[in-house]
Amino acid sequence: MPRTPFIAGNWKMHTTADEARKLAAEVRDAAAGAEGVDVLVCPPFTALPAVAGVLAGSSVMLGAQNVFYEESGAFTGEISPPMLTSLGVTYVIAGHSERRQYFGDTDEIVNKKVRAALAHGLNPILCVGEKLKEREAGEGWKDLVRGQVTAGLDGVSADEMPRVTVAYEPVWAIGTGKTATPQTAAEAHAIIRNAVGEKFGADVAANLRILYGGSVKPENVKELMAEAEIDGALVGGASLKAEAFGPLIRFRE
Ligand code: PEP
Repeated sequence: MPRTPFIAGNWKMHTTADEARKLAAEVRDAAAGAEGVDVLVCPPFTALPAVAGVLAGSSVMLGAQNVFYEESGAFTGEISPPMLTSLGVTYVIAGHSERRQYFGDTDEIVNKKVRAALAHGLNPILCVGEKLKEREAGEGWKDLVRGQVTAGLDGVSADEMPRVTVAYEPVWAIGTGKTATPQTAAEAHAIIRNAVGEKFGADVAANLRILYGGSVKPENVKELMAEAEIDGALVGGASLKAEAFGPLIRFRE
């Protein structure tokens, strides 16, 4: 079975509820009639109900940018998996590099988030990727990315793996305008797929969708998506304007 391309937008800390409603309506319209591609938007928590209303009945799926791993309790400021599912959220990003960098999300915490998401029926997008220094220091980045993948998926069963997506997001390419070449991204994706194969077997690896993230835009999406290893994109900046996100959804045209 070929893997269905998957284009996901991470709106980060952008959009008020009103702005999100407008953007979501534009994305919904841009995605209407687009065949053979899964489309996801991840607005901020505060805009989820507004966006859920706009997307109801459309093919565009709703995701959150983060989740806490406990169900409820004295965790001021955190959002639990049931709070998300109750709003119609089906996907959640875990371990985005900005969470790792600014909010202390370690591999262990990211793994707890992945497992909590799965336990509550959410589909996690596990983000991994090396920093510029690590990329420039030789071959070590490969072990680092492998390590992020195996740690992030610790305790996950092969049966749960069809619900997992991995996003390879080299930190040096996020929001910098520097995109990994399609070959560089594909090499990293192959490393990730191998690591998943070693842990869960060849079938799970063959079915895993691996997204590339890092300055994806209409000008480079076609060549990235032409790589057999690249199953889609996790998009930051270019997901904030339907004029840019629309062509990403329609990357085949
Ligand atoms: C991201 O935030 O996941 C991302 C890839 O951002 P950008 O597309 O802006 O580089």
